Amino acid sequence: MHCMSTFQRLCIRKIAQNGYRFSSFPNTTNSISGYNFRLNDTQIEIQNLARKFTRDEIIPVAAYHDKTGEYPIDIIKKAWDLGFLTGHIPEEFGGLGQNVLTSCLIDEEFSYGCTGIALALTSPGLAQTPIILAGTKDQQKKYLGRMVDEPLSAAFCVTESCAGSDVAGIKTKAERKGDEWIINGQKMWITNGGVANWYFVLARTDPDPKASINNAFTGFIVERDSPGIIPGKKEQNMGQRASDTRSVTFEDLRVPKENVLSREGAGFKIVMQTFDLTRPSVAACATGLIQLFR
Ligand SMILES: Cc1cc2nc3c(=O)[nH]c(=O)nc-3n(C[C@H](O)[C@H](O)[C@H](O)COP(=O)(O)OP(=O)(O)OC[C@H]3O[C@@H](n4cnc5c(N)ncnc54)[C@H](O)[C@@H]3O)c2cc1C
Repeated sequence: MHCMSTFQRLCIRKIAQNGYRFSSFPNTTNSISGYNFRLNDTQIEIQNLARKFTRDEIIPVAAYHDKTGEYPIDIIKKAWDLGFLTGHIPEEFGGLGQNVLTSCLIDEEFSYGCTGIALALTSPGLAQTPIILAGTKDQQKKYLGRMVDEPLSAAFCVTESCAGSDVAGIKTKAERKGDEWIINGQKMWITNGGVANWYFVLARTDPDPKASINNAFTGFIVERDSPGIIPGKKEQNMGQRASDTRSVTFEDLRVPKENVLSREGAGFKIVMQTFDLTRPSVAACATGLIQLFR
């Protein structure tokens, strides 16, 4: 019988919690066997539904949207109707509480049809994740509930022209004035920048360059119709052209203190935790894209 390290036991527990089945194979000599990556029946069903949706709804119009760059609103409405766009939202707010693996299965199928349309379909989930992770019940009810009630879009505003991978390099700043925060700065490459109903925005709130990154940034929820939000022109990307990619400028944007996520200074950690949950989907989209033949 092989021995399992503590690390392997932890991995198995994590994998089981995240929707993989686990069965043991005591006769095997492979020290890491015992993992079973078979999908469960529900996941297979969801995968088949996403595959059918891609075949029927995405592939026939993919070339059109890639050529024109037109935002695929009709496909978004149909996907929302089937529950594809809200599955990751916790059950208490009207979603399915679906795990990351199941979301990846859907994203891989959509991306086989068109990564631009897939991005338009899945990216609002990126903006919702900070709220799922760190929002108060009121914030979750208001902003996640809105996505369950209507096929709306949302945007995640972190990247700037001077800061991509290096999130701590962002320059957008927020200053507290009484019960409000005033945000100034510009975000770049923001998916859904022109079509979002609300934005998650990361801003620097401690101007001291020596401040710890774990306390220097704050996450805000921002309503699209607030004065001081200026979306730029739609970028002409080399790929993913159906998706709406823009700069978004904030000029003296006033945000009520109720729209701070978690607490002042918690933003960097929230963004990193958001990436932990959402970057697997980027890899799943790439996996869908490379499947030229099925
Ligand atoms: C289509 C599209 C949609 C996007 N949507 C959004 C969005 O909705 N919201 C948002 O906030 N951002 C968005 N982005 C921005 C995206 O998150 C950034 O492009 C990404 O974080 C990388 O940043 P960058 O482009 O500045 O590249 P850089 O950070 O400059 O990286 C360039 C290269 O250098 C490598 N590199 C960087 N740092 C290091 C290092 N320390 N050591 C070794 N290698 C390194 C990188 O791996 C990469 O290969 C989008 C981008 C695109 C293209």
